[in-house]
Amino acid sequence: MEAGAGGAVDRLLPMTAATDRPTRRLLLVHAHPDDESINNGATMARYAAEGASVTLVTCTLGEGGEVIPPGLASLTADREDTLGTYRIGELTAAMRELGVDDVRFLGGAGRYRDSGMMGVPENDAPGCFWRAEPDEAAGHLVAVVREVRPQVLVTYDEQGGYGHPDHIQAHRVAMRAYRLAADPGYRPELGPAWRIAKVYYNRMPRSVIEQGLRDTAAKALFPGVAATGDIPGVVDDEVVTTALDGTAYAGAKAAAMRAHATQITVDGEFFALSNNLGQPLLATEYYQLVHGEPGPGAPEPDLFAGLDAEAAR
Ligand SMILES: [Zn+2]
Repeated sequence: MEAGAGGAVDRLLPMTAATDRPTRRLLLVHAHPDDESINNGATMARYAAEGASVTLVTCTLGEGGEVIPPGLASLTADREDTLGTYRIGELTAAMRELGVDDVRFLGGAGRYRDSGMMGVPENDAPGCFWRAEPDEAAGHLVAVVREVRPQVLVTYDEQGGYGHPDHIQAHRVAMRAYRLAADPGYRPELGPAWRIAKVYYNRMPRSVIEQGLRDTAAKALFPGVAATGDIPGVVDDEVVTTALDGTAYAGAKAAAMRAHATQITVDGEFFALSNNLGQPLLATEYYQLVHGEPGPGAPEPDLFAGLDAEAAR
């Protein structure tokens, strides 16, 4: 199902009866449109193709982003300020490429505005996500958790992967909602309590990204190459618990990233953001399990590994 033309995509599907739910249910919480495709595009495409329920909650419209195509330059916040609306369309197109039909904006489209990079005046703007009251923001997510009843939650680490205020806030809101959703005493009107079995952070093993950046320098056509420090979520290899082989979905991931054309330029197995610094487009996506029991495999090959999903209905 697709978002209505130009409309909000905070509720694309009617609520599904519990007996009709897919057995495996994945929830991803991201800050801006495009983060999901860059971090989890292959993961989302794979689970959607396998019949799992995949729900994406995006916290802002990414209104503060730069714009790569010169013909769209007037969308930016300092000119027409219509980038957020435009990016709803990009996200909708990206989700079509991944086969994901449950996409929502936290609190509804436009409820929280992009806060800009750390240290800019937009960090203090009323209505920006960085200034959101965490309990109020988490309440919107608790409602989603209790409706969808996911076994797996994916979000960022405490630094938001690389320090962007909206990514840090997405982490805080996701973790707060994870705890509150499981508390039967918290706002019972939002639905019965639900405990998410496994929580993961997006990660990038240092050895993988270092090799990927060497490949980028050797083969990619971008004018420069990103540094390891530019890449979100880089950790020592042993921190990574889970590697999701999305090779079969690399094309879908690349197509989803291309759909975010204001933000991303894709060149074969490489891509660049508006800084035009190349980095590898990886089909294997990496995670760190931070809550829940690991399943078999080192690294785990599956976010649902070890779960008795039938029992989790
Ligand atoms: Zn982002």
